Amino acid sequence: MKMGLGDILLAVVLAAPVWAQVSVEQEVALGRRAAQQIEAETGLDPSPQLNQRLQRIAQALIPVCGRNDIQYQFKVLNSDEFNAMALPGGFVYATRKLMNVMPDGQLAFVLGHELSHVTQRHSIRQMENDQMRRVGLMAILIGLGGGNVSQESAQLAGVVDQVISSRYSQADEDEADRLGTQMMARAGIDPAYALLAMHTLAAQHDGGMPQFVNAIVGSHPLPQERIAAAYSYIPKLAYSPGASQPAAPVQAAGGATLWQSTLVKALGQAGLLQNGQLMSVAQRELASLQLDANGILLVSPPGESYSQMERRLFTQELAWLVTDSQQSREFGVAVRQNSAGEKLVWLKVR
Ligand SMILES: [Zn+2]
Repeated sequence: MKMGLGDILLAVVLAAPVWAQVSVEQEVALGRRAAQQIEAETGLDPSPQLNQRLQRIAQALIPVCGRNDIQYQFKVLNSDEFNAMALPGGFVYATRKLMNVMPDGQLAFVLGHELSHVTQRHSIRQMENDQMRRVGLMAILIGLGGGNVSQESAQLAGVVDQVISSRYSQADEDEADRLGTQMMARAGIDPAYALLAMHTLAAQHDGGMPQFVNAIVGSHPLPQERIAAAYSYIPKLAYSPGASQPAAPVQAAGGATLWQSTLVKALGQAGLLQNGQLMSVAQRELASLQLDANGILLVSPPGESYSQMERRLFTQELAWLVTDSQQSREFGVAVRQNSAGEKLVWLKVR
């Protein structure tokens, strides 16, 4: 029996709680339709190098993302805007600019953040809770049953636009930050890279932390609270370096000689490079450390040798962060070891 609009409305009224649930099938169909629109409007970057890099990081995160009832697709958008976005159903995009600016570890945070919006169905939940649009949405979803996305209508276009332009709540963003960071840890990627990623995001926005919209970069500047929150929970994440650990440290790029030698000196003075000089502190004491946004926190997992930690300090990530700051020529280092054996390394850059 073919349903008319009247029947649909009646069904919605009679069975609102049921109809308000978007099935996984419908979620994927809706996301695919939105993905087609994004790709048609922006285009994809065909570079094998960028795409392979994106797939490599994505493949480390997907198995530990916590949701396996959908298939994920990661693609590079042909765009020189600094951005990333995720659509319902598992369609995740990073722009060419983002890929070029962010090293692997930072990229892992952005992708983990975006993946978390998908695993938590933030967009879908928003639609389900939106009374005003529910009737129209449900009428469309009936047409999307079976994954059929051929239906074209003004209503469908409206819902797709909503999917693409919806803005997440602050609570959803906080959750995505937190879950994305946990995802990194489970994938064997140092969650401390999330802090560097946040600094990069802030730098892309004149120092103000961007609100992650459906796209990762939006219009709302956010206070440093988000970075501060990350400092409080990232050191508590347990992780073991895995196969997906960002690439081996490399020699700092040209111009880094000065800061590198200064840093080595600072590390030596702090006792970081000598065994047996670390203070033992309880994890909660971390909260009393005076950490501010001008420093970098590295979490060194139990068992990591000093030479390994030192090498990580000289990754390209840090070289970029330090050389990017015009007047960063002074360093301060604080090291604490907590009861779990993790070393918390606070590097202050002035
Ligand atoms: Zn977000």
